[in-house]
Amino acid sequence: MNSVPTFPLVAAGQLAGKLAEKPGGTQTTCPYCGVGCGVRATLRSDGQVDIAGDETHASNFGRLCVKGSALGETVDLDGRLLYPQMRVQQDDPQSLQRVSWDAALDKVAHGFRKIIDQHGPDAVALYVSGQLLTEDYYIANKLMKGYIGSANIDTNSRLCMSSAVAGHKRAFGADLVPVCYEDLELADLVVLVGSNTAWCHPILFQRIAKIKETRPQMKLVVIDPRRTATCELADLHLPLKAGSDVWLFNGLLSFLARHDIADAGFVAAHTNGLDAALEAAEVDCADPAAVAKICKLDPQDLLTFYEWFAANEKVVTAFSQGVNQSSSGTDKVNSIINCHLLTGRIGKAGMGPFSITGQPNAMGGREVGGLANMLAAHMDLDNPQHRQTVQDFWQSPSMAARPGLKAVDLFQAIEAGRVKAVWIIATNPVVSLPDADQVQRALAKCELVVVSDIIEKTDTNAFAHVLLPAMGWGEKDGTVTSSERRISRQRAFLKAPGEARADWQILCQVAQRMGYQGFAFSAVHQIFDEHTRLSAFRNGDAFGQRRAFNLAGLSGLDQAGFDALQPVQWPIVTTASGEKRGTARLFADGRFSHADGKARFVATPPRAPQHAPDDEYPMSLNTGRVRDQWHTMTRTGKSPKLADHVPESFVDMHPQDALLYGVREGMLARVSTRWGAMVARVQHGGGIARGSIFVPIHWNGQSASDARVGALINPVVDPVSGEPEFKHTPVRVEEFRVAWYGFVLSRSRPLLDDVTHWTRIQGRRFNRYELAGRSPIADHGAWAAKLLGVDAADADWLEYEDASAGVYRAVHVVDDCIDACVFLSPRPDLPSRAWLASLFIKEKLEDADRVGLLIGQPIEKGADTGPTVCSCFSVGRNTICDAVRKQGLSSVAEVTACLKAGGNCGSCVPEIKKLLSEILVEETS
Ligand code: SF4
Repeated sequence: MNSVPTFPLVAAGQLAGKLAEKPGGTQTTCPYCGVGCGVRATLRSDGQVDIAGDETHASNFGRLCVKGSALGETVDLDGRLLYPQMRVQQDDPQSLQRVSWDAALDKVAHGFRKIIDQHGPDAVALYVSGQLLTEDYYIANKLMKGYIGSANIDTNSRLCMSSAVAGHKRAFGADLVPVCYEDLELADLVVLVGSNTAWCHPILFQRIAKIKETRPQMKLVVIDPRRTATCELADLHLPLKAGSDVWLFNGLLSFLARHDIADAGFVAAHTNGLDAALEAAEVDCADPAAVAKICKLDPQDLLTFYEWFAANEKVVTAFSQGVNQSSSGTDKVNSIINCHLLTGRIGKAGMGPFSITGQPNAMGGREVGGLANMLAAHMDLDNPQHRQTVQDFWQSPSMAARPGLKAVDLFQAIEAGRVKAVWIIATNPVVSLPDADQVQRALAKCELVVVSDIIEKTDTNAFAHVLLPAMGWGEKDGTVTSSERRISRQRAFLKAPGEARADWQILCQVAQRMGYQGFAFSAVHQIFDEHTRLSAFRNGDAFGQRRAFNLAGLSGLDQAGFDALQPVQWPIVTTASGEKRGTARLFADGRFSHADGKARFVATPPRAPQHAPDDEYPMSLNTGRVRDQWHTMTRTGKSPKLADHVPESFVDMHPQDALLYGVREGMLARVSTRWGAMVARVQHGGGIARGSIFVPIHWNGQSASDARVGALINPVVDPVSGEPEFKHTPVRVEEFRVAWYGFVLSRSRPLLDDVTHWTRIQGRRFNRYELAGRSPIADHGAWAAKLLGVDAADADWLEYEDASAGVYRAVHVVDDCIDACVFLSPRPDLPSRAWLASLFIKEKLEDADRVGLLIGQPIEKGADTGPTVCSCFSVGRNTICDAVRKQGLSSVAEVTACLKAGGNCGSCVPEIKKLLSEILVEETS
């Protein structure tokens, strides 16, 4: 039987070729979260890439979290989409074949043109991504809104921060983030709301942690229904009831007003609308005790938070997806901003509301109008003067006259047949959108699905009529903007592999084939220049429309100037001496972007999540990220370093709920909602309240048989922002009954035909599969040999079976090297995979290794490191616990000094702290 070889991986530099190396490495920017850390990437002579933090970059000053540190493991060409492909049979998704770029571009251009001619411009759409560079985004938006003449371009940023955008626009008159990272360090009180910063924005969290070490009097409050890793540093954790944030902040507004903490001068001079906002807040939230009851908080804890907020002038309230991803997300944002406006705590060092963006270029997308309800350069679609300004600048044949379809509506319109062609760029909506099975149905019905991606096999690509190979990180060139408005360069240090092209090039080539002028760019700096000039076009009081987003200071850069561009925060101002300077914080002059120059309080009457739990679906599903994975794992899933920390999807639930619903830790459970179902491993993380469960967002149809949580999420959206309610869907958990559990570690892909549930995990020189099956296995030996594609009679095949207990283990050895192993049991209590995994990097098994093979453990005690805690230095839980117990280590610093764990990115520090306290409890009890 043939099995598919998966190793060795091809190093990025070997196939793609490398660009000229720069001393100290190429300075670029991390492609993951919105912190926007500077990276130095150096291509080695063996084609591998060394990654280091850029010590000169003001986001991270040389530090990187574990995801950034592991970037070198994600740029290989394994699984890359290298050539354009098209379906030979329109209705057969399997009929994709390699074609020339000319054929692929013609198909896209003619397909879009035909549908536009027959059904109008709103019958086509683009669905793009916060992973795109600003220049790619700019061209996509220009093509759609200015040339095709429809605003049907939306982005996956809709899913993570569109509520913040809408909240900013309502309060400030434009989508403006007032603060900068330094404000988190200058504040006396940092409030993190709906943000597991320790895992999702680790370098920002490390900056807070470092300051807290030197200024312990600085207070940190974490407001989150879960006790996350971020809480390990908190002075106060408020585990509020999911969705009750507006009650909490309305209560704070009322408390501040009643205790006369308002900055009356600021309110009078620079704001409007306080009375209505206060009136709305006072309806339910005037009494902190009543608020505590609604939010299910300890009344004293709530009061402590209110008092701390009142007492500290320098307060930053940072918020993320826990606030935004809600059917009342925009109101949540405004309820936070209201408190800062009332106290005048905005526009000054160490204070302000702070939306921390999820994606590396969500901000850049906002700058160019990547959302369906925005125009380029922070102008508004519903403002005729803005529409004219942009059209005059572009000299384009048309201009979208009304907002387009937002993400969820867009895929519903595709299913309904109103949108007949969609071009999906750098995103995986079949995994990431709510009601994701509906997205599958929509794409299956769509007349023309075009996908630009760097990976060949994704859940979304399976629906493509045309697949276009795009350049990835390290190959593409352009700019991104971080959460603090800092524009940084992403620079190429690898040549494009195969026939991959930059997204802006592909878009321009399609636009030109559709007959449009205005896309004759030959280099990316030309697009950046046009983008900067548009930001300054008719921008100023003289035009009656001063816009804060202004990059005039960066206009006119040639190739050399663009290459040399250093990270800078917009707006860029030119000083009297002609020097161009960025701007750290906004609103220092108390002037906002509404026509009257004032900020707006927004009345935010609280409302509960749209769907309440009921008898059939009695709990609430919360979703989010894990520490070491990014989005749908198409890149981070390739890194063995990142795979170990959380190898499988899981459902985290309270032990009493588990008991109630008949599931146990380590078992598989079926998790279902009215929209879909999945299977995940039950765990008790210790941080979740009764009545709620948490499931991570990352796993997809390529990495697991049945773990796509997007299929379960209700498609309810915020009425203002269109952001989906990812944090609350009524859900049921029940036993997923199986006859056996097992795992496989193998250098080849096993045949999974007889497996009910599987998860694939990338290892170093092997793949790991966690397995479970419903059908009992009659002949374990024959079954295992078939699974691994091995002729056991002819092979170095070691096996052990306890037939009465249903336990079976086999190991396949080739040339004294481990090739594969399979472990099966009726229960999930299988040996640790860590030691067996470590054997795959050995050139030759030692005799002592062979003795341990079938028990899955080393014979000498202590060699099994256990599950990974510190991914940077591959330090396992067993290693840390042993060192703590035997050497009497009592602090993270001592653990780091002894084992290095926690000494690089610091993402694991909260977990080390937790282990230390667990061992302390164990030893003192
Ligand atoms: S915090 Fe981590 S993921 Fe985010 S930009 Fe920095 S290195 Fe990348």
